[in-house]
Amino acid sequence: MSFPSYRKFYLPSYSPSQIEAFPNKESALVIIPTGAIEQHGPQLPVAVDSLMGQAWLSLALPKVPEGTPVFVTPPVTIGKSNEHVGYPGTLFVPAKILRRLVHSIFQQCYGWGFRKFAFLNTHGGNMSVVRACMQEFQAEKSDISTCFLRSGFAPPISKQEAAFGFHANQVETAWMMAATEDHQLVDSTYLPCEYPGSVDDPAELRAECAPATYSWVTADISDSGVIGDASLATIEDGREWLDKGAAALAESIVTLCNQ
Ligand SMILES: [Zn+2]
Repeated sequence: MSFPSYRKFYLPSYSPSQIEAFPNKESALVIIPTGAIEQHGPQLPVAVDSLMGQAWLSLALPKVPEGTPVFVTPPVTIGKSNEHVGYPGTLFVPAKILRRLVHSIFQQCYGWGFRKFAFLNTHGGNMSVVRACMQEFQAEKSDISTCFLRSGFAPPISKQEAAFGFHANQVETAWMMAATEDHQLVDSTYLPCEYPGSVDDPAELRAECAPATYSWVTADISDSGVIGDASLATIEDGREWLDKGAAALAESIVTLCNQ
């Protein structure tokens, strides 16, 4: 697949005077990408979450109509990944560091005149931290809006994979097969399948998506580092899901810009 440059949307592409002169900054949308560098099983590079954030922006932003007021900050590539500690390549910062970094980005963008913020968060472990940041912004400044930017596109996967596949799983592996086809970053010789539970025997207390969830680190629920079934991934599905996901993400961006 080809990944077009989204330079015209990238804030660091502009000079201070150009940013100063942007019209209607208070209604422009600023996307803050937050990702992670962490183990994704034996088949995927540790860059998956940060790389996918860039893939989504690269595929979606060219589909946004000319003149749509949207800008992107530099990505936060190292996130809160202490749940994947103990694997070479997992690089994380404590939650409080991520919180301070995100808060600093927000405060400075606010100072330049921006008021609408959307997080393109591609790593589940960041969610609680980013959500706390958003509430801090809202409490601090009354004239802003913040949200998570999502495509809303859900790949058609099995109930089992949807409920219990949440890391280096079918979807992430398929995306990466398609996104890095030219660079062969996926090692398909071993695509593990490991689930922490079953839809045929759903427990009330589970790692994710249950009436009661518990805090986990990968070693508690997976030997391979995969949580889900990576063996189901195909490059064809990956291409289709990237296309459809990017189209849906572009629509979400336009909708947010028009609100
Ligand atoms: Zn991931």
